Amino acid sequence: MPQQIVKRRSRGFICVNAHPEGCRRNVERWVEGVRGKIPPGQIGPKNVLVIGASTGYGLASRIAAAWGYGAKTLGVFFERPPEGDKTATAGHYNTVAFHSLAQNDGLFAVSINGDAFSDEVKRDVVDVLRKQMAPVDLVIYSLASPKRRDPRTGQVHNSVLKPIGQAFTNRTIDLDLEKVVNVTLQPASEKEIADTVAVMGGDDWKRWMGVLLEEKLLAEGARTLAYSYIGPKTTWPIYHGGTIGQAKKDLECAAGYLDAALASKLGGNAWVSVNKAVVTQASAAIPIVPLYLSLLPLVMKKKNLDEGPLEQMRRLFTDFLCAGRPPKLDEARRLRLDDRELREDVQAEVAALWPQITTENLRTMTDFAGFQRGFCGLFGFEVEGVDYEQPTETNLHW
Ligand code: NAD
Repeated sequence: MPQQIVKRRSRGFICVNAHPEGCRRNVERWVEGVRGKIPPGQIGPKNVLVIGASTGYGLASRIAAAWGYGAKTLGVFFERPPEGDKTATAGHYNTVAFHSLAQNDGLFAVSINGDAFSDEVKRDVVDVLRKQMAPVDLVIYSLASPKRRDPRTGQVHNSVLKPIGQAFTNRTIDLDLEKVVNVTLQPASEKEIADTVAVMGGDDWKRWMGVLLEEKLLAEGARTLAYSYIGPKTTWPIYHGGTIGQAKKDLECAAGYLDAALASKLGGNAWVSVNKAVVTQASAAIPIVPLYLSLLPLVMKKKNLDEGPLEQMRRLFTDFLCAGRPPKLDEARRLRLDDRELREDVQAEVAALWPQITTENLRTMTDFAGFQRGFCGLFGFEVEGVDYEQPTETNLHW
C-alpha cells in the first residue's frame, strides 16, 4: 500500500479513522513520561497481563509496567487492523508503536487482538503465558466495552448509561453542535441494569482469574486490579448511582471474592482502583462528562494537580503497587487515585462554574478546546509535531 495523507474523518463528533504517526507520538510521550521517573530501588512486577491494553488506562498501565519496571507484558484488546486504504483504529497503531519502542529497548511484549470475553482469547492467552511468560504476578483488567457476548449462553448483552429509578436532567455539551444543552435521561429498565452489569461488572474478570488460577499460571503473591470511577455528586445520577455504577459495585464484589481466593491460594490480592476522570474513547461517550471534562482540567491545572492516564498509572505503580508496603485502601478496600480530583477545593470550583456555562461562554470559561484537542488526540490527530500534510504509511502491523 503506498503511503497516503490521512485527514481526520468523523461521524458527528466521533472519529472514524486514526493517524499512525500521531498515535506513535502519543505512545512515545507516555514512554518518556515513565522512563527514569520511577523512584530508585523500587521493585515492580515482572510478568504482567493487561486486558484492555491498547488505549486509555490499560495502555498507560502497560507502559508504566514495561518502561517503569522492565516487565514483560501481554496485552489483550479488540481493535480493527488496517484494510486496503482504510486506516486501523487508534488502539492498533498505539500497539504498533508500543511494540516497535519495546523492541528498541529490549522489552518483551506480546499482543493478542480479539474478544476478551470469549473463551478462545482466554485459551490463546493461556498458551502464550505458559510458553513465554508465566508465572504472572500482575493482572490488570481495564476493559471498556459497549457489549459482551457471554460464551456460556451465547447471549449478547448491551450496556447502557442511564440513571436508575427516575429520569435525570442536567447540562451537557452537545458535541456535534458544540452547544450547552439540557439533557434528560430516562431511567433504565431492570433488564438494562442487568445487561450493563453483565458487560461492565465483575463476571468476566472472575472468569479470567479462574482460568489463570486453574492453569497455575499465577505467581506466589500475584495481584490483580480492575478500574472504576466514582466522581463528584453532580455526575452520580448518571454514573455512580446509574447503570454503570451498578456494574462497578459488582466489580467491587468480584474484587472481594478474588481477593479471598488469591490470598488463600497464593498470598495474593485483588483490588479495585478508583481512577480520575480523563478523556478516553469510553468516557467521552457519557452524557454530562464532556462538560465536566472541560471544567475539571482547567481547575486542576491551575492548582498544579492535573494528571492524564499516564501520570495516574505511574502513580498507581510508584505509590501503591511498588512502594514496598501494602497499599493504602479506603473503607471499601479500594485504591483511590481520584483523591486529587475529589479534593473539596477542586470540586467547589467546578461546582461554582458549572451553572454559569452557556453556549456563548463555553470557549472562554471552560477548556472545551482542550477537551476537543484531547479527544482528537486519542485518534492521533492534532498531535504536536505531526505534519498532517505529509503522506504516511497506514498498513502497519506489530
Ligand atoms: P478505553 O476505551 O480507552 O479502553 C478500553 C480498552 O478495552 C481498549 O484497549 C479496547 O480495545 C478494549 N476492549 C473493549 N472491548 C473489548 C473486548 N471485547 N475484548 C478485548 N478488548 C476490548 O477505556 P478507558 O477509559 O481507559 O477505561 C478502562 C477502564 O477504566 C474502564 O473500566 C473504565 O470504567 C475505567 N475508568 C475510566 C475512567 C475515565 O475517565 N476514562 C476513569 C476511571 C475509571
